[in-house]
Amino acid sequence: MDVGADRGGVEQAARIVSAGRLLVLTGAGVSTDSGIPDYRGPGRLATPTPMTIQQLRSGPEAMQRYWARAHLGWARMGHAEPNATHHTLVEWERDGRLVGLVTQNVDGLHERAGHRDVVDLHGRVDRVLCMDCGDVTPREEVQRRHEELNPGWSEQTVVHGPDGDVQLEDTSGFVVAPCLACGGRLRPDVVFFGGSVPKPVVEHCFDLVAQASAVLVLGSSLHVMSGLRFVRRAAALGTPVVVVNRGPTRGDPLATVKIDAGCAETLGDLAIAFA
Ligand SMILES: [Zn+2]
Repeated sequence: MDVGADRGGVEQAARIVSAGRLLVLTGAGVSTDSGIPDYRGPGRLATPTPMTIQQLRSGPEAMQRYWARAHLGWARMGHAEPNATHHTLVEWERDGRLVGLVTQNVDGLHERAGHRDVVDLHGRVDRVLCMDCGDVTPREEVQRRHEELNPGWSEQTVVHGPDGDVQLEDTSGFVVAPCLACGGRLRPDVVFFGGSVPKPVVEHCFDLVAQASAVLVLGSSLHVMSGLRFVRRAAALGTPVVVVNRGPTRGDPLATVKIDAGCAETLGDLAIAFA
């Protein structure tokens, strides 16, 4: 394994990614250039404990706490724009260089950049589901309704996190919008902390791994098993794995090449290999 952003590592990675059709796995490090912070990135030691789906279902107070924070978080994430990494991957898809793109991000920025075929491993915060009847609502609409129900709420000054959550203590005054179809409880269409990725999605990803000539991991510490298992599968199949991430990842021991650098700059270097 080569470690570091040295020329040799980048050249070896370029040979691997240009040799066939790639499976790309993206994480929070891809979205930091769009202004969405990464809890697990370098220099961030304090990890707030996210809410589990069981906590969310526990009662009206948890719903208030969740939606009050999410409402503020969306004010930032909802305006984030795709960056150079998202755009480069769109080009690679258009040029037929990918077997697939799997993302651990819930920000929807790959889709916003124009990527057509994205596996949203952990769901998307721009879609809202009713926990009681299954009705689907665009997040923008729920945001508008919450704005009407809670005028002035989103003008508070708070600290934002990567999944649309924010640090906010007193949420007891927040009025939560009910499902318009049944009056039931709404939640974003994401895999909650402690939840698991649906089996058919996992199986689809394993199929993509099997078809790929190489796996390229971008901006993920592979801290959660949901992404790490695909890297493990690739390694077991003898498929080369290139990891691009600032800081160590759980996939490093399995990587053919590890590049310790930012995604946008490294992808720019790798794209030259396709020219
Ligand atoms: Zn409903």
